[in-house]
Amino acid sequence: MKLLVVGGAGYIGSHTVRQLRAAGHGVVVLDNLSSGHAEALTNGVELVRADLLDYPSVKAALEAHKPDAVIHFAALIEVGESMRAPARYYRNNVVGSLNLLQAIVDTRKVPLVFSSTAAVYGTTDAVPIPEDAAMQPESVYGETKLMTERMIHAFHTAHGLPYTILRYFNVCGAAPAGDIGEAHPSQSHLIELACMTALGQREKMMIFGEDYDTPDGTCIRDYVHVQDLADAHVLAVEALNAGKTDAATYNVGLGHGFSVKQVLDAVDAVVGTPLDREIAPRRAGDPPRLVADATKIVQELGFAPQFTDLQEIVQTAWNWHKGHPHGFEK
Ligand code: UDP
Repeated sequence: MKLLVVGGAGYIGSHTVRQLRAAGHGVVVLDNLSSGHAEALTNGVELVRADLLDYPSVKAALEAHKPDAVIHFAALIEVGESMRAPARYYRNNVVGSLNLLQAIVDTRKVPLVFSSTAAVYGTTDAVPIPEDAAMQPESVYGETKLMTERMIHAFHTAHGLPYTILRYFNVCGAAPAGDIGEAHPSQSHLIELACMTALGQREKMMIFGEDYDTPDGTCIRDYVHVQDLADAHVLAVEALNAGKTDAATYNVGLGHGFSVKQVLDAVDAVVGTPLDREIAPRRAGDPPRLVADATKIVQELGFAPQFTDLQEIVQTAWNWHKGHPHGFEK
């Protein structure tokens, strides 16, 4: 197949591009490079530098490259920032996605795979969380993803647009080769921050709350490796192309979780020296447990994650950060 990967120069997008190429598919990336990196794209992947808010450019890219399907990653993703700058998030994530949907139905009406998030569920009592759990996002970020999910479904109903929505849990790790990985400017994620601390770029690790109702008192999350997540996109787009699915939504996670302390213990083991830790107050809006019920994607798409060992997951992240202490910047 030939895929247009929107936001393909970002963290998850670039790993997906690589897995798509490994599966024998052709790829063109459309990215505004606001947070993505052209360096994350290698051998033979064409980059169209364009912004989803620029409808004519998006339509022109679809007309020029004639993809068989579109995978859409492009979004602003910082929860805290989304609360401070809601207009930016609604415009970029919702209006941008609307332009993409409109351009698809105005041109080739090809299937769409959309990157959504467990943040659409908000705080929920369900453990693990099934796809039909109540959706009450607690952040503008989560709200923009839910609104986009609903727009996609409306385009399916009105225009027959086939789609698959993937709701990611805690994405982490890096390509085992260590040449691409997470390079966000704000570095807010646990494993990434721990690697930065191990590199001496931060003084210590804060544990946000040790008094949760969990076995060791710290929050539990479902950490899915970015390469497994990338493979989920390959499975999703191939199932759409084969007509096996046309309006499906899947959680993507391992189906079990690790606590903050377990993650930090794994980092200590991989790095070889214990990081300084400090117990800090709970972080606002953090539910004690967020774990995917991943049964549906396993059964329907044959999702079979390769990275299930926490230390192995952390090792891939560490290899990337150690080799690229400042991300893609030299
Ligand atoms: N966390 C922490 N210290 C940090 C960063 C994160 O204790 O410096 C905790 C956070 O409270 C949450 C878990 O690690 O329970 C995962 O947080 P992250 O920001 O990586 O992902 P989120 O679950 O918020 O999407």
